[in-house]
Amino acid sequence: EIAFYQNRFVDVDEKVIPIQERGHQFGDGIYEVIRVYGGTPFMLKEHLARLEKSAAAIELEMPYTLHELEAIIMEGLKRSGIPEAEVYLQITRGISSRQHHYPDASAVYSMTVREVRAIDEKIRTDGISVILLEDERWLNCYIKSLNLLPNVIAKQKAASGGHGEAIFVRDGIVTEGASSNIFAVKDNVVYTHPATKRILHGITRAKVMELARLQSVAVKEQAFDEVFLKQCDEAFITSTISEVLPIAVVDDVTLPNERPITDGLAAAYRHLFS
Ligand code: PLP
Repeated sequence: EIAFYQNRFVDVDEKVIPIQERGHQFGDGIYEVIRVYGGTPFMLKEHLARLEKSAAAIELEMPYTLHELEAIIMEGLKRSGIPEAEVYLQITRGISSRQHHYPDASAVYSMTVREVRAIDEKIRTDGISVILLEDERWLNCYIKSLNLLPNVIAKQKAASGGHGEAIFVRDGIVTEGASSNIFAVKDNVVYTHPATKRILHGITRAKVMELARLQSVAVKEQAFDEVFLKQCDEAFITSTISEVLPIAVVDDVTLPNERPITDGLAAAYRHLFS
C-alpha cells in the first residue's frame, strides 16, 4: 500500500493531514476511484476527464495537469507493486484558517493505492440483495464530491441488514446505488436513469451501455419507479469496483433466476481487461 499527499509519496500510515485541511473540515473537494487490472489503470482517461468536470463544477483549480496526474498515478502503481489495485484520489480546496468561502490557498492532491477489495465469485454468480431507501442527497449528484454522509448512512443500513447495496429512490424514481449505478431489464430492453444532475455519470455505466449496443441489446436512458424494478426480468448494478453485479433480491422481492442479458454484459465487460 502506498499513499501520496500534497506533493510527495508517503507511507499510508503517516500522519499528513493538517487540522485546517478543507477536505477534513468541510468535505470541500472531489474524488475518483480507479480500478487497476494487471498493472494497467482501466479507463484512466475517462476518470480523469470526470475529475476535471467535478473540479469545474465546484470551481476548484486543479493542482496538476491531467498529464502530471497520470504520471503520479503510474509512479504510485510502480511503487506499490500491486497489479490488482484500486487507486483512490482526491483534490481538496487546500489548507487555510477555517472560513466557509474559498480561501487563497492551493488545492491539495492526495491518493492511496491498495489491493482491490475483491468480490466473491459466488456473489457475482448468485447476485446481491438490495434495499430501497429515500434519496436524501443534494441535487448535484453528478459531482463526485467528498460529501458522502447520506451514502455512508445508506450503505451502513444495507450492510447491517446483510444487503449488498442501498438503492436510492427520489420522488418515486429509482436513481442509483449508494456507490453504484442501477439498471433494470424488461422485455429485452435495458433501462437506466438518464445522466442528469441526480446521478453520478458512472464510467462503468457508460461502458456497459456501449457494450449493450454492441450486442444489439436496446438501451433506454429512461427513469423507472420501484414497482418497475420489483417487476423487472433482471437488474444489476455497475461500478468501478463491482463491475457488473446482478441483483437477486429487491427489498422482499426475489427477481427471476435466469439473467441472460446481465450475464452477457458482465462477461463482455470482463473481456475488456482479461
Ligand atoms: N454512483 C455513485 C453514487 C458512486 O459513488 C459510484 C462509484 O463509486 C457510481 C455511481 C459508479 O461510478 P463508476 O462506474 O464511475 O465507478
